[in-house]
Amino acid sequence: MNKQIAIDGPAGAGKSTIARLVAKQLGWIYVDTGAMYRAIALYMTRNGIDSSDKESITAALDNIDVSLSFGDEGQNVLLNGENVNGFIRNEEVSAVTSKISVYPEVRNKLTLIQKSIAESENVVMDGRDIGTSVLPDATLKIFLTAGEYARAKRRALEYEAKGKTADIEEIMEDIRLRDERDYTRSVSPLRQAEDAVLIDSSDMSIDEVVNTIISLYNANN
Ligand code: C5P
Repeated sequence: MNKQIAIDGPAGAGKSTIARLVAKQLGWIYVDTGAMYRAIALYMTRNGIDSSDKESITAALDNIDVSLSFGDEGQNVLLNGENVNGFIRNEEVSAVTSKISVYPEVRNKLTLIQKSIAESENVVMDGRDIGTSVLPDATLKIFLTAGEYARAKRRALEYEAKGKTADIEEIMEDIRLRDERDYTRSVSPLRQAEDAVLIDSSDMSIDEVVNTIISLYNANN
């Protein structure tokens, strides 16, 4: 079996930064599953399909192909062949994503793709349901979290680095709403897998978190 590290946790916990670095050190690919949910949300937004219209969303899934390609810059998410990396990381898409990701049809479609990627490559995969549902036999499972303020602060810094203005209170509210939906949905809610290691990164540097994960992996492999 290929090697798999699953990293789950709430919004803004630093999953993608950490997962990318762990994958780089191990020479594996990094799969950002949130980007795949975001691509589907972008399709719905572009086509004027409301996030509460389950029937239309389910019907539209037949017209959507989500795939990934991996280049020097990392993962590209392709929506019907178009690289949409530049369009999926904004507040509007974030909010729609957390609404459409409650539908089992959306989750099933993406879970199948994610499982098949992990069959052909060693992966570090991050998301909300990787350890519990997508890769239940992962070599190592991490549940990465951080305090609400620390998470909001990190998101604000990310936005500022991209030249966008960031209101910490607004970001905190957005994170709270998304976490609430992710934790309470009936299909594959966000939760720590029983065999996952909990890491609270509030007071840890990026290197400390990466080294902790690599040490946990090396200790058992
Ligand atoms: O990780 P990211 O913030 O990009 O994820 C965006 C949203 O996609 C999450 O808030 C969640 O609703 C959804 N998601 C999910 N399952 C995953 C990854 C993301 O439901 N495995």
